[in-house]
Amino acid sequence: MGYGSTGKLLNIDLTNSSIHIEEIGEEHYRLYPGGKALAAYFLLKNTPPNVDPLGPDNLLVFTTGLLTGAPFSTATRFTVAARSPLSGSYGESEAGGFWGPELKMAGFEAIIVKGKAKSPVYLWVNNGETEIRDAGHLWGRDPDQVQEIVRQELGDKLIRVLQIGLGGENKVRYAGLSHEMRHHNGRCGMGAVMGSKNLKAIAVRGKGRYLDLANDPQQLAELGKTLAKKVKEHPLSWDLQVKGTPGLTEGINAAGMLPTFNFREGSFDDANRLSWGAYEKDLLKGRGSCYACAVRCKREVSISASYDVGDKYGGPEYEAVAGFSSNCGVNDLSAMARANELCNRYVLDTISTSSSIAFAMECFEHGLIAPKDVDGLELRFGNADAMLKMIEMIAYRRGFGNLLAEGARRASKVIGKDSDQFAMQVKGQELPMHDPRGKVGVGLGYAVSETGADHLVAYHDTILSNPDSIYFKGAIPLGITEALPNRELSKKKAVTYALMENWSSFGKVVGLCYFGPAPRSFIQVDQILLAMRAATGWDMNIQDLLRIGERAIVLARVFNLREGFTRQDDMLPNRLFAPLQKGALTGVNISKTDFEQTLTDLYTIKGWDPATTVPTHDRLLTLDIEWAADLLKTVQT
Ligand code: SF4
Repeated sequence: MGYGSTGKLLNIDLTNSSIHIEEIGEEHYRLYPGGKALAAYFLLKNTPPNVDPLGPDNLLVFTTGLLTGAPFSTATRFTVAARSPLSGSYGESEAGGFWGPELKMAGFEAIIVKGKAKSPVYLWVNNGETEIRDAGHLWGRDPDQVQEIVRQELGDKLIRVLQIGLGGENKVRYAGLSHEMRHHNGRCGMGAVMGSKNLKAIAVRGKGRYLDLANDPQQLAELGKTLAKKVKEHPLSWDLQVKGTPGLTEGINAAGMLPTFNFREGSFDDANRLSWGAYEKDLLKGRGSCYACAVRCKREVSISASYDVGDKYGGPEYEAVAGFSSNCGVNDLSAMARANELCNRYVLDTISTSSSIAFAMECFEHGLIAPKDVDGLELRFGNADAMLKMIEMIAYRRGFGNLLAEGARRASKVIGKDSDQFAMQVKGQELPMHDPRGKVGVGLGYAVSETGADHLVAYHDTILSNPDSIYFKGAIPLGITEALPNRELSKKKAVTYALMENWSSFGKVVGLCYFGPAPRSFIQVDQILLAMRAATGWDMNIQDLLRIGERAIVLARVFNLREGFTRQDDMLPNRLFAPLQKGALTGVNISKTDFEQTLTDLYTIKGWDPATTVPTHDRLLTLDIEWAADLLKTVQT
């Protein structure tokens, strides 16, 4: 009987082309059961301090979660982690799709890559066997061609090919990875790290079965059947199936939280042109899914309009819709879809790409940069042509695109003239498309996230503000006792936030999609506990699950502390402390004093020194990671 793990890691050194398989013991896996936890553990243990993110000594770690590949909805995720070239902090990016389950079925929990190949290569992981192969003929090619060529030369159409695009090859600091042209590890520049190693792709094929790894396969199989029926019973999972994340645009606009003109405003006059109704009528061609997931929230699109968009790549998610429409002031659905298509073709993070362009548009409108600085473009809000041209220039690192490929924070340092006020970023990573002036817990998440601004670091305030809602009731088993207003900043909000962050982190450890678990969605907390017990045979309770999530967060925090990050890095851009200029929240801001106080409360609740954010020795002990204290000896306390 197994415990949900293959117990094997693949170590690859590209400098000397060595491949080494390592075993992970069950006791080790109990503490770091995959995903974010296993990745953070390896980065802390095996990367030297102050490692160059784009140098050969930076590790690039691929980890599946304990439940990745289990036969039930949303157990699909895998993590890619490294020191981020965008932020210099702990970097991590999750994706669903099929590659993670395939890696597990191929016999491995994780792949750890170090070094740099002399020329482009790709990895071929085939049912426990691994080969490093030449990728000279793949370098510079688009993702669909790479996938096709790899499948043909290896003679199997079912191979899953995780790859970088031109963005990663050119080390754009927010380049990502993708597979099947529609599942993306977008954030933190993991594609640039992969490109710096001359690693074009990792092709994987596995013929194992998750149930053969599980302690109680029958119970897991039954859970899968039960959950498949529940998707339609829950309003949010059902809404995701019908509309996908693009269905969020109208509601967020009506609530005054749709980032518009680089977060200056909270509502967009032409939001109806980007609404779900418009998307469904003019863009939508079908629905897709990830491995074994009955939610099926992925969209397939194509359009022939002002800009043509083919059906090769997956459809825009909400983040791309808002990022390339309201936040850049563009009101053309086909232009937004084209921008998304270009990002997918070059494998760039849509959030950082759109936000970096919005930053440049605001600099342009304030006269901080002129047409001569931006290759003759009128880089104004609303100029769809200029936005699309800029994406190409970023991917190729041409002209002004070479500067924007560095991200908004680095670009603002070169532009100067107080342009940093327009760089909407935390720790160098650009903000996702949720204005935290309407849901301040999201702002706490943007600030404290070890990777820089991230909207999936905790569940949003809106989920827990109505005590009669199905969402709030779903959070009660986690210890949530009181519904709190979306905009409340208080010690109570800090308590709720800390629980929601630990729970979200747990999902990232074990491989669950953000859209699976309660309180956001349809899989109840007791069902997740049941899945964990059935998979592992371990005697666990809900507190154990929360501790798994917290341990991973603390390891990532220790990584950042070792790299010199301080409390001062946990801060929002000043614009969010100023009033919103338009929409339902006109005049609303975040009080900086209240925000700082809530951060202090939050660190105290977490068991961290509020002045430095260094976890106390007791907290490390409670989390069974006392060894991390050694790494903090040089940190100023
Ligand atoms: S909910 Fe959507 S993104 Fe998440 S696993 Fe299912 S299909 Fe994939």
